[in-house]
Amino acid sequence: MEPERRFAYASAMNKTVHILPEGQEAYARALEILRGGGLVALPTETVYGLAADASNDAAVAKVYALKGRPARNPLIAHVLSPDWAQDLARITPLAQRLIDAFWPGPLTLVLPRKESGLSKTAGGWLATIAVRCPDTCWSRPFIEGGWTTSLFMPSANLSGRISPTRAAHVAADFGARVDLIIDGGPCRGGVESTVLEVHEDYAVLLRPGTIAAEDFAPFISDLRLPPKSQVLSAPGMLASHYAPRAGVRLNAETSGEGEAHLGFGAVDGELNLSREGDTVEAARNLYEYLRRLDRAEVSVIAIAPIPRTGLGQAVNDRLRRAAADRSG
Ligand code: AMP
Ligand code: MG
Repeated sequence: MEPERRFAYASAMNKTVHILPEGQEAYARALEILRGGGLVALPTETVYGLAADASNDAAVAKVYALKGRPARNPLIAHVLSPDWAQDLARITPLAQRLIDAFWPGPLTLVLPRKESGLSKTAGGWLATIAVRCPDTCWSRPFIEGGWTTSLFMPSANLSGRISPTRAAHVAADFGARVDLIIDGGPCRGGVESTVLEVHEDYAVLLRPGTIAAEDFAPFISDLRLPPKSQVLSAPGMLASHYAPRAGVRLNAETSGEGEAHLGFGAVDGELNLSREGDTVEAARNLYEYLRRLDRAEVSVIAIAPIPRTGLGQAVNDRLRRAAADRSG
């Protein structure tokens, strides 16, 4: 491994943060930690995840404790190969078509739960389970290293705060409290996976994400939005979420005093999510730019209007939650 790619950050507590670049050494160490019930932050095509052995109750409990995540917010089971999903969930014909088309990839399917060896801590009280097969650099090496169980893996950030799209973001939130961070560079997608609740002949878009809703048209003739009550009961859909420290003002053509301006397209700002007006690029830059603008002297981040088409739907969803009332 090139020495310049090995990082050791010393935190204020003088504890070393363990970061290794993606590669065989990192994967072997990660498997050792996961087998011992530890937590590893892993790069995915969406954002960085905080992974635990999904069959280990104590490890899964550590994920909730470290993130400060509400206990009733279920986790997504990540399988390393699409066929592993059969052990966790009943795969309906529509689900199978979606799996064939989008896995490995940034699509989470909420399906009827099967009795399995997974920890009940992460959603065992529900009749459904959320499953995803991510497209990552480490999936194959983990399988080759003998790993056979799923990983419960939420985003590797403090609950309610901005998701991480760089190893340094994870280090900033958790420091040495995570046993290892694998640095795979900036994430390609930049926002979380799209979450679909799959029924026999329709699906419900629980969370817009890295796959645009339009892309499901060839597979789902009836794609519905969740009823308001369901939005409130799915905890990842909490109104205030994905929030920077500063306040957030949406649809801002200009910025005022004490505000940092985040631009899009022709509406330029201190940073611009995509000068070309490309929503895919905007999604990729969103969390990194929010983190950069979330400085002590900034009281509000003013954000240019962003179209609701393509990945603009997910970007607007996250911004709306970032701007939501935090008093509740
Ligand atoms: P994250 O917090 O980024 O890991 O996202 C997980 C998302 O999946 C959250 O919005 C959860 O509420 C949602 N989720 C997980 N399991 C289920 C489930 N069985 N039914 C509905 N939503 C779920
Ligand atoms: Mg999250």
